[in-house]
Amino acid sequence: MKNYRAELVGVFGDPVDGNPTGVTMEAAFAEKCLNYRYLTLKVLPEDLEEAMRSLRVLHMKGINLTMPHKIKVIPLLNELSEAAGIIGAVNTVVLREDGTLFGENTDGKGFVQALHNKGISLEGKRVVLLGAGGAAKAIAVECALAGAASIKVVNRTLERALELVDTLKKHTKTEASCEQWESCHKIPADTDILINGTSIGLHPDGDQKPDIDYEGIAPHMAAADVVFNPVDTLFLKEAQKQGATAVNGLGMLACQAALNFKLWTGVEPSLKVMEDTLQKEFE
Ligand code: NDP
Repeated sequence: MKNYRAELVGVFGDPVDGNPTGVTMEAAFAEKCLNYRYLTLKVLPEDLEEAMRSLRVLHMKGINLTMPHKIKVIPLLNELSEAAGIIGAVNTVVLREDGTLFGENTDGKGFVQALHNKGISLEGKRVVLLGAGGAAKAIAVECALAGAASIKVVNRTLERALELVDTLKKHTKTEASCEQWESCHKIPADTDILINGTSIGLHPDGDQKPDIDYEGIAPHMAAADVVFNPVDTLFLKEAQKQGATAVNGLGMLACQAALNFKLWTGVEPSLKVMEDTLQKEFE
C-alpha cells in the first residue's frame, strides 16, 4: 500500500515566525529522500502542556523547543540527557517507540561539533566565555564535558555568571571562574578559545560588537560567535584582524540541527546542505 502519511517533527515557540530551522530541515530531508515534515508552530506558554500531549496524539517523532518553552517543558518529560539535566533546559524532544518523551539539549553539542569541524578540540583548553544566558550556559556545560581545562565567564550581570560557575563546579571537573564585564574588558593572554555567547551584534544591531580589548586577541586563539545573523559578525571580523581563527554561529546552528535530525530519523544528514540552506536565508 502506498504511504500518504509523513512523519512529523517541528518546533514550538512564541515568537517563532522568524525561526529558519524548518527550511534547513526540509532541505536535508529531501536530500536523504526521507518522508518527514518539519512544522513551525506557534505555541503560547499556557498551551505548552496541551501541545506536548499532541506529540503522542499525532504520532510525531519529536519536537524542538525554543523561547519561552526550553525550561518549562522539563516537568512534562520522562527522561533527560545528562547535559540537558545539568543545563536545566531542553531544545529537542524525542517521542520514543514506548511512548516516553526524552529531552536533550543540542545547542552546546552543536557548538562543540562546529569547533571540531574546524579542527579545534576542547580537551585541555582555556576558554573565555562572554555571556551567561541560555546559549552561554549550554555552551559552557558542553565545553566542560568535552574536557576544557578552564572556563572564565564574563557577564554584565555578575549574579548570572556566579550561578553558571556554581553549575560548572557542581557537575564538571573544569576550573570555573567569573568576572564582572568591565569596559574594554581584557582577554587573558593564555586564552585558547574566546566565545561571544551574548546577543551583541545580532541583526538589526550588526554594527555592534562586545566591548572587549581586541588588541589582546592573538593568532593562537580561536574566536567563536553564537550570533548567526549576520554570519560574519563584527566580533569575528575584529578577531580575524588579530590573526585568530573564526568560527561563526551558523556552524553551531547547522550542527545542532544535524544532531536533532539524527535523533529523530536515525540518519546522518548532509551538514553541507543544512549550512548552505541557512546561509541563503541570511544573505
Ligand atoms: P539570553 O537572553 O538568555 O542571554 C543573553 C546574554 O547576552 C546574557 O548574558 C546578557 O547579559 C548578554 N547581553 C545581552 N546584551 C548585552 C549587552 N548590551 N551588553 C552585555 N551583555 C549583553 O539569550 P540566549 O542565550 O538565548 O541567546 C544569546 C544569543 O545566542 C542570541 O543571539 C541567539 O540568537 C544566539 N543563539 C545562537 C544559537 C546558534 O545555534 N548559533 C543557538 C541559541 C542561541 P545579562 O545576563 O547581563 O543580561
